[in-house]
Amino acid sequence: MQTEDAVVLGEDGLNALVTVLAGRGRTIIGPTVRDGAIVLAEISSGDELPYGHGVELEAGRYRLTARGDGAAFAHSAGPQSWKTYLHPQRERQWTAERGADGGLTITAEEAQAPSYAFLGVRPCDLRAIAVQDRVLAGGPHTDPAYRRRRERAFLVAVECTEPGATCFCVSMGTGPAVEDGHDLALTEVIDRAGHRFLARAGSPEGADVLGELPSRPADGATRTVAQQQVAGAALRMGRTMPPVDLKVLMRDTLGADRWDEVTARCLTCGNCTMVCPTCFCTTTEDVTDLTGEHAERWRRWESCYDLEFTHLQDGPVRASPQSRYRQWATHKLGTWYDQFGSSGCVGCGRCIVWCPTGIDITEEAHALNDERAAAVHHEEQAATAARRADP
Ligand code: SF4
Ligand code: SF4
Repeated sequence: MQTEDAVVLGEDGLNALVTVLAGRGRTIIGPTVRDGAIVLAEISSGDELPYGHGVELEAGRYRLTARGDGAAFAHSAGPQSWKTYLHPQRERQWTAERGADGGLTITAEEAQAPSYAFLGVRPCDLRAIAVQDRVLAGGPHTDPAYRRRRERAFLVAVECTEPGATCFCVSMGTGPAVEDGHDLALTEVIDRAGHRFLARAGSPEGADVLGELPSRPADGATRTVAQQQVAGAALRMGRTMPPVDLKVLMRDTLGADRWDEVTARCLTCGNCTMVCPTCFCTTTEDVTDLTGEHAERWRRWESCYDLEFTHLQDGPVRASPQSRYRQWATHKLGTWYDQFGSSGCVGCGRCIVWCPTGIDITEEAHALNDERAAAVHHEEQAATAARRADP
């Protein structure tokens, strides 16, 4: 099978896909309903996918909803992203044991690198994985554990047909269609002709897997409905970014009053960095047992909202909440381009949903854009008045 030949999988196609991937020795991670949310977890059957569930999202709000159509992928981003598996929250780096002679034996941790298959990767999250690839596996300072996990991962992407109220992938150019970076791409179609999945391969292994599944050649009607649903999703984004160069906007508004307004609401809790699929910062912690005979070094996610994140000799460089929020937002939307050649935001909306005070990065960008426009207008008026007074 050629990589871009599309086929149609029936309603039971996801079960067959899970069986084939498991047969290839892969650990399958997919969305499933748990504790009132759609979370990512290891699954052993397609039946564990969140059939018949949707989500209602708003700033600081997430609710699971019931759907009558039995769709498996009619939900947008949940509280986790795939970085939970590729770049885990906590990883031991080494252990040290004191021997009978008083010497220390230090053993480096062999990082776990399961052969993952991710089922249900959204287009925005594909782009987020590509961003982390550049940071953790593409530059001069690679993370060997990340690279091993990433090289072994098989990505089943699913095009978005039901964007959430906090999604803005269209503004960031990251969705709702799957373009690249996938092994398989699915589009869920439900109409009078039935519940099915348009499927196409994006890699040689994807083509092999697709070739093992019960399928039929893609018919024109299924292709048309799939295209219409994805095109319709692009028109129903819940949020937008202002249509300006965001990097320039961040650069022009470093002294804006809006930073003071937003940081009056920011708790500097760091939730937005924890849920963000592109945030990658870590720190290390050393721990010992009470006897001092055993010690370990752990690496864990760190947040730029943590006061200690920028601690130098005389204390934190970014001591105020204002400076920490501004650092996060301007890095995501501006200086990330200088470091990594792309935006650090893929428009998934997670930081909006999981902010306890409902701070919305799109609302802040619009407010900064409005403040900049008002300042420019004011300067123009002042210049005109000056010319009139002194022609
Ligand atoms: S913006 Fe929201 S989620 Fe992020 S640190 Fe501030 S309060 Fe927490
Ligand atoms: S900044 Fe927010 S919307 Fe952008 S990628 Fe991170 S969590 Fe998603």
